[in-house]
Amino acid sequence: MVCDDVKRVIYFFLDGTIAEPRKRDIDTHLGDCPDCERRANVQRKLREFVHHRLARITAPDHLRTRLTRSIRAFRTEWSR
Ligand SMILES: [Zn+2]
Repeated sequence: MVCDDVKRVIYFFLDGTIAEPRKRDIDTHLGDCPDCERRANVQRKLREFVHHRLARITAPDHLRTRLTRSIRAFRTEWSR
C-alpha cells in the first residue's frame, strides 16, 4: 500500500467503515509513514471537532449541509 492509497481511503478508515484486511494494511502503513500518520491525526482531530460541534448545536439543515461541504473541501485540500 502506498501513500496515495492511504489518502484515498483515510476517511473511511477513520470512519470505521473499512474492511479487513485493508484496515490492517493502513494501520501498518501509518506505523511506517510519518506523513500519513500526521495526515491521519489531523483528519481524526477534525472529525472529532466536527462531531462535537454537530452534536452540540442543533444546526438547521442548510447550515449543517454547508458546514459538511466546507469540511469536505478542506479534507480534499489536505489529502493532496
Ligand atoms: Zn504514507
